[in-house]
Amino acid sequence: AMSFSANIEKLKPSATIKVSTLAKSLVAEGRDIVNLGAGEPDFDTPLFIADAAVNGVRSGQTRYTPPAGLPELRQAIADHLGARAGREINWKGVVVSAGVKQALFNTFFSLCGPGDEVLVAAPYWTTYPDLVMLARAEPVTVFGAESNSFKVVPSDLEGVVSEKTKGLVLNTPCNPTGAIYTLEELRELSVWAKGRGVWIVSDEIYRNIYFGAQGDTAPGILNLPEDDVGKFILVDGASKSYAMTGWRVGFSYSGVEIAQKFTALQSQITSNTATPSQVAALEAFRNVEAASSAIAEMGVAFRRRRDLVIALMDRLLPGVPYIQPEGAFYLYFRVDGLFEVDENDATTWCSRLLQEHGVALVPGAAFGDDRWVRLSFAASDALIEEAFTRIVVMVGTGAAV
Ligand code: PLP
Repeated sequence: AMSFSANIEKLKPSATIKVSTLAKSLVAEGRDIVNLGAGEPDFDTPLFIADAAVNGVRSGQTRYTPPAGLPELRQAIADHLGARAGREINWKGVVVSAGVKQALFNTFFSLCGPGDEVLVAAPYWTTYPDLVMLARAEPVTVFGAESNSFKVVPSDLEGVVSEKTKGLVLNTPCNPTGAIYTLEELRELSVWAKGRGVWIVSDEIYRNIYFGAQGDTAPGILNLPEDDVGKFILVDGASKSYAMTGWRVGFSYSGVEIAQKFTALQSQITSNTATPSQVAALEAFRNVEAASSAIAEMGVAFRRRRDLVIALMDRLLPGVPYIQPEGAFYLYFRVDGLFEVDENDATTWCSRLLQEHGVALVPGAAFGDDRWVRLSFAASDALIEEAFTRIVVMVGTGAAV
């Protein structure tokens, strides 16, 4: 066998992308597939954003920008964060990246290496452990109580923290569970991390997709009293809030010194995020009025679909455990009670569901527990209903839709 570097010894392709790729290839073969595997809004990018990019390209905004992004975009993001935080945010702490994925790569690659450990709250978004391993550090997964939507609390962390612990990854609203940490829950974790000298990596990419009070966003690390917060990196971006997954715009906000390291790293790897994408994101972050109304409009659809999937679960799959989604656009439910004889994991169950019934879901193996599956409700009501009809046909319980 060919031998490669230890850098990529544990590297594997993203599990969620694998499912969408398989679903897309079945569609290309002419199969009738309901794809609830994808992790992206089904809306088009709002036109005011797309138009800004087109106009930017036509007027020559097609050259390199500084590697950390257009200064006016960094300032617009700082203003956006400042409005959330209720205090001034230093734009020099903002680094624009090719999606939150690159911001997270910058983070783990810069903060940890061989011999270090990073605590990853589980179930986790599939990419965190893999990025930690790319930095040749060890991900340590830690589950909270299922009865608490798997949210971790300091006593869970006390059980796994060690001398080697460098960071703690939190994701709220959470992919795959849709759980949200309350401000007080976040505060307790933040105080714990500060006391332990551990970095918090706070992924708030789903912050605007929130089913609490209408118009509100989920609590985030910038909402905490500053005294309760130690070292942290906040990552967020345009992908989910503004239906801009393909544009590849994310950012990190951190102390200026580490932001300069991220900038140097990007200057050696990718240079700036694509300039037209930055121009689009600038409009999204700067045109607060148009952006808020786009977010609100998509929010109404997500909220209606959230209510729909819960109603369908309760009616058609009574007794099947699921986590109540309070944000994001995923329903995480437990399928080990639905396994056939000799079926031992959700990967096999999902593959049977896809091959025989044409519904793509993501098996929990991608999130740290292969008794569960993730259903994305970023799809039309009709597709969601069709998926449930097919699931019921397969598992043979419940009433007809
Ligand atoms: N973080 C979480 C929790 C996600 O679910 C995703 C995308 O699925 C990302 C980050 C990556 O987003 P981006 O498109 O900005 O790279």
